[in-house]
Amino acid sequence: MLTAISGINWGDEGKGRMVDLLSSDYDIVVRYQGGNNAGHTVINERGKFILNLLPSGILREEVINVMGNGMVIDIKHLVEEMGRLKDAGIKISPANLKISDKAAICMPYHIMRDCLEEARLSDKKFGSTRRGIAPSYGDKYMKKSIRLGELFDEKLLKERLTDIVEWENLMVAGVYGAEPVTVNAMAEHLKKYGDMIKPFVCDVSLYLDEQAKQGKKILFEAQLGALRDIDFGIYPFTSSSNSIAAYAPIGAGIPNHKLDLSIGIMKAYSTCVGEGPFTAEYFGEKAEKLRQAGGEYGAATGRPRRVGPFDVVASKYGIRMQGADEIALTKLDVLSDMDEIEVCVAYEKDGKQTTDFPFPQGLDAYKPVMKTFKGWKKDISGCRKKEELPKEALEYIDFIAKATEANIKYVSVGAEREAYIVF
Ligand code: GDP
Ligand code: MG
Repeated sequence: MLTAISGINWGDEGKGRMVDLLSSDYDIVVRYQGGNNAGHTVINERGKFILNLLPSGILREEVINVMGNGMVIDIKHLVEEMGRLKDAGIKISPANLKISDKAAICMPYHIMRDCLEEARLSDKKFGSTRRGIAPSYGDKYMKKSIRLGELFDEKLLKERLTDIVEWENLMVAGVYGAEPVTVNAMAEHLKKYGDMIKPFVCDVSLYLDEQAKQGKKILFEAQLGALRDIDFGIYPFTSSSNSIAAYAPIGAGIPNHKLDLSIGIMKAYSTCVGEGPFTAEYFGEKAEKLRQAGGEYGAATGRPRRVGPFDVVASKYGIRMQGADEIALTKLDVLSDMDEIEVCVAYEKDGKQTTDFPFPQGLDAYKPVMKTFKGWKKDISGCRKKEELPKEALEYIDFIAKATEANIKYVSVGAEREAYIVF
């Protein structure tokens, strides 16, 4: 049984929280793309955890966690993240964490290049988290990555590193005029952190194939939402990888298997971190109220998130791109204080309305078309059954489901593990 959990919107839909909840049924949780640029927040009986690289299943002792070939991994960050969790009493060993030998390493020069490029772009910047993700993926396709499996042959590694560092310096020093990196410093970095990571590195493709054939339940966890997918998102304001569910078997190393179920996480209102078109954006007081209510500040960066009403156009597109069979609607409780709740039901340009998501570069020309719903003005965070929800909340959910063609299966009403309703 292969299930993917992915984001329907711009990210931060509460994927980490839903994976934490649903992973109790699964034997294995896999991350298949991205790096430490985004953060998942998970709150459970053991405390509050922010995960950047590790799969959320790491918080459950009986679950085995896999980091796939589709990821780019900053090994220093990984060692530190593992250290933080271990300090909080979480057990991490090669028995419950397996990292693909084919995953690319995000190196210090990738972080440097990310920062140098954002600085060069100044006001045209993409809103990168400056964690080296875009240069890492760029290098992967330029075939200049060092992959984790290379850590096991020091002689070969040194040779390749020497070539790669020479090439990197053409950019770091040649293009940007920054201090060149040295082979020795990079070799030391790889030795220091690589030695700590090596025990976890293996052929996860072979492992997952065997487990899938034995009928084990495997959960794929995406980072970032459909609108940040490099092909289908709001390019160039996207992540640098394919975050959509269809990529999960590839990024995990088992392209010979098909997904049995795709669960999409969709937020009851919209948030967007960083730059890029965000058609139904709120500003000023309206924005601040929603931001405060939802605690919308980045888990990885602390940056205030841009906010807006639920967006039918973007969400319907996200559901299609994720091939979502089931939807978990999250953070409905955040809207409980509102007298009125708006929904963006269409985009309008030149007097014409559409509910089909337009080509991203043209998005700025569209205005949101809003519909207003009556708020329920009642705390719903204690609701555990559909029948306990106020009538207005049920109407809101029903409208969203119909407008986006969503099969809403879960509604989450709080950050805690048990704060959800099965529909
Ligand atoms: P992710 O990147 O998709 O995993 O989401 P983030 O962790 O970045 O952001 C989601 C935030 O909302 C986290 O702080 C969660 O603890 C919190 N959260 C998740 N679901 C709910 C919910 O139903 N209600 C409330 N109030 N908070 C939630
Ligand atoms: Mg997040």
